[in-house]
Amino acid sequence: MTGAAFINDDGIVIIDADQCSGCKECIEACPYGACYYNKEKQIVQKCDMCLHLVTDGDMPNCVTNCPGLARFFGDINNPESTVAKILKENEDRVFTDREDLNTKPNVYYLSVRK
Ligand code: SF4
Ligand code: SF4
Repeated sequence: MTGAAFINDDGIVIIDADQCSGCKECIEACPYGACYYNKEKQIVQKCDMCLHLVTDGDMPNCVTNCPGLARFFGDINNPESTVAKILKENEDRVFTDREDLNTKPNVYYLSVRK
């Protein structure tokens, strides 16, 4: 572990490819199964919310390309944002992965309405 993984100011967990030694400790440690080993580059990588796009004000690729329009991205701390409104309007069916760990992740899911 080299300190290559960090949380940026927007709450996105990032792995700095230049710092990563490829030790894979984070693969074992991540309770979300989010990290994977890139054999070619010999480093660990993970979803970075398409940082290269969102820093330019664009949406992540999976949000733009989801045919079901099921994915949203934005600033949950801004009550006027679409994501904040969706969370508020669906309070009864919002959940996060591994809530038992109390890590307060920034990825939220909505359960299917019954
Ligand atoms: S593999 Fe994971 S734990 Fe090891 S240096 Fe890279 S980011 Fe850090
Ligand atoms: S397309 Fe979606 S899942 Fe893939 S890196 Fe971008 S935000 Fe993450």
